[in-house]
Amino acid sequence: MLALKKIYKRYTTGDFTQIALNGVSLTFRKNEFAAILGPSGSGKTTLLNIVGGLDHYDDGDLQINGQSTKKFKDSEWDAYRNNSVGFIFQSYNLIPHLSVLENVKMGMTLSGVSNEEKQKSALDVLERVGLKEHVHKKPNQLSGGQMQRVAIARSLVNDPDIILADEPTGALDTHTSEQIMDLINEIAKDKLVIMVTHNPELAENYADRIIELRDGAVIKDSNPYDAQERSSHYQLKKTSMSFWNALKLSGKNISTKKWRTGLIAFASSIGIIGIALVLSLSNGFNKQINSIENDTLSGYPIMISQTAEEITFGPGTSTVGEEDQGEKEKQRKQAAIFPEQPSEEQTAHKNELSLEYLDYLEKIDSKLISGLSFTRNATMNWLQKVNDTVTVVNPESLKLASYPRTENSEEKPFLEKNYDLLAGNYPSGKEELVLVVGENNQLDRGIVDELGLDGEQKQLDFSQFIGKEFKTIANNEYYQKEGEFFKAKGTSEELTTLYEDGKSGTLKLVGVIRAKEDLSVASLSEGVKYSEELVKDFINKAKTSTIVQAQEKADFNVMTGEPFNGEAAVTQIQDRRRFGNPDSIQAPAVSSITKEQLLTKFGGVETPSNITIYPEDFTSKDEVLDYLDQWNKGKKQAQQIIYTDMAATVTSLMGSTLDAITIVLVAFAAISLVVSLIMIGIITYISVMERTKEIGILRALGARKKDITRVFNAETFIIGMCSGLLGIGIAYLVTIPVNMVMENMTDIANIAQLNPLHAILLVVVSVLLTMLGGLIPARMAAKKDPVEALRSE
Ligand code: ADP
Ligand code: MG
Repeated sequence: MLALKKIYKRYTTGDFTQIALNGVSLTFRKNEFAAILGPSGSGKTTLLNIVGGLDHYDDGDLQINGQSTKKFKDSEWDAYRNNSVGFIFQSYNLIPHLSVLENVKMGMTLSGVSNEEKQKSALDVLERVGLKEHVHKKPNQLSGGQMQRVAIARSLVNDPDIILADEPTGALDTHTSEQIMDLINEIAKDKLVIMVTHNPELAENYADRIIELRDGAVIKDSNPYDAQERSSHYQLKKTSMSFWNALKLSGKNISTKKWRTGLIAFASSIGIIGIALVLSLSNGFNKQINSIENDTLSGYPIMISQTAEEITFGPGTSTVGEEDQGEKEKQRKQAAIFPEQPSEEQTAHKNELSLEYLDYLEKIDSKLISGLSFTRNATMNWLQKVNDTVTVVNPESLKLASYPRTENSEEKPFLEKNYDLLAGNYPSGKEELVLVVGENNQLDRGIVDELGLDGEQKQLDFSQFIGKEFKTIANNEYYQKEGEFFKAKGTSEELTTLYEDGKSGTLKLVGVIRAKEDLSVASLSEGVKYSEELVKDFINKAKTSTIVQAQEKADFNVMTGEPFNGEAAVTQIQDRRRFGNPDSIQAPAVSSITKEQLLTKFGGVETPSNITIYPEDFTSKDEVLDYLDQWNKGKKQAQQIIYTDMAATVTSLMGSTLDAITIVLVAFAAISLVVSLIMIGIITYISVMERTKEIGILRALGARKKDITRVFNAETFIIGMCSGLLGIGIAYLVTIPVNMVMENMTDIANIAQLNPLHAILLVVVSVLLTMLGGLIPARMAAKKDPVEALRSE
């Protein structure tokens, strides 16, 4: 059934070629116990390895059941070793990290037998060799004889046709040797057993046939056999090791070096920890930024003012381009002065806030905005009575301004939404005013004084403010024409009359409010605030007032007679001379404010100087901006309305700084990942070196090269998995103190949050990278020559 035909095997080391087998021809019976005798170096092991398919012949042919093996592929040799051959070695060659039972099962693992069948067969053979009680021991807990019994059990478990034993008793004492020989003899009853020995006595006592080798040639054969066998079909069952089995094998191996694996996993997890921390921090920061964006949009509204500057923050503020920078440096070194255009003039843009544009703004979907504020700087001629004396209110001192009107009727009013009520009520209607105080209830002393209260006092009751009354006087009542110019009423009798006569509107301060804490930027300054309706009413009436109409016609200040500016002023002065106005000749001063400003002050200008839009939330802000952009479409630069999106400027600045930091940190962490990649490569290489013997054993049991690769891939898989999970675990633990520190520093809880998706991804990355690192050593392991691997210690 097994025939060697003129087998040659040569080993070449350097210039020297050793002929290990020199044309050996032998035919073995299906069932016999053949002993091969011969001195050391005569080629016995080489012969056995070739018969077992572990080593390949250079010339000749090995026939199995009459079938040539000349064209055998690797996979067929693997299957042959696994199905048909059982090896027994002098040095037992057990896998040290597997139990007795697992060692025996190993051969079957490769042939893909079901678990129960494996268990049963393995226990059966172990019972046969008398090791029933020792199945769970590790090989190093057994005696030599017992180890050899395990090896015999392993060689039998697949029920092969051929058992090859290379000096199986070489390391055993005489008594144990006899027991082992008895066992082998028993096996030989229904198998072909080829046993190498240099003990002629053993051969004599047990073998049916003794073949003597010398210098790679058969010199004696006690019982030759030369029946020509007809070629019969020889079916081999392919072997393979599943990744799961490879995992179990490597898992067992790794569990014998827990500390080392743990440290390796920890070292290579540092990169993962770094990345996980960076990601969780930036994740937390991003969430934070988003919530800031959402919470404080009313703090960062969209602003449109008459003179808009294209505001840029940060280093981009400088209008100096990069190429200009060198030019500037040169300038500095010269002894000269270089006139320059002021940068404001370069970027200032006049927004034409026409009535048409206001109409356009009014038509915006009210659901998108929570508040809309038009700032109109008309002076509404307010009077107040303090200790029975009526005085004119200075609008600047009181910080008079309008509060935003609420656009979205379904939402809470703007003030209720963003301001806490400290006393009284929120204002409703145009007769009601509200006092805004600072975040710690502070109020500018100027405001307190202007309200006729004692600013020197340490603290004042809300009740001192609430109920405070003002009167607003129409222009026609307040301004009187005196000669050529207008004059505001000012004597106490005049003011008292105005205050008391009942024609004027009465305003009442009804509440004290303060910006809610999460409002990072208060939209209203401290001071008294009125409704927009009030100022609109005033302007409506003021438009037709005498003073406004006079001022619209005049090119000079109707109150002082001062001309407005440069060239015009000269002709005006000449005009006035002609009309013989002595005052104007004596006062050739130019008005410090423009006609437009003066008209605005009198309430003669309907368009606001500033528009502030408070979007409902972050998404509606985008829609609002789209709406604003729509207006500018197709318009010339000069006609466009430029707005400032404060939130975007602030958050994009925060966001991009954060991105930059994230990139830098991730880069550092990535470097440590690469380092661990190399480390894993080295570690796997060391492991391959350590497990060389195991590779040889597995190959002898029929493992394919692929299976060996798989075993080491499984090892790196486990390490990668461990380091990934360890890294995520540690990173998660580290976020706890990090969060505590951050909370102390910034008052924001749970800044570092590890996104579960990131965690999973990082474990995957860790596994892939470690497997990548171990790939080359795993390939090297697979390429190892099984014979050499077995010979290694
Ligand atoms: P035995 O088992 O009879 O002691 P071997 O079959 O191991 O002898 O070796 C036969 C000859 O081949 C010896 O001279 C040995 O040195 C040589 N040999 C065996 N294996 C190798 C090898 N891998 N490389 C070089 N020479 C080898
Ligand atoms: Mg030998």
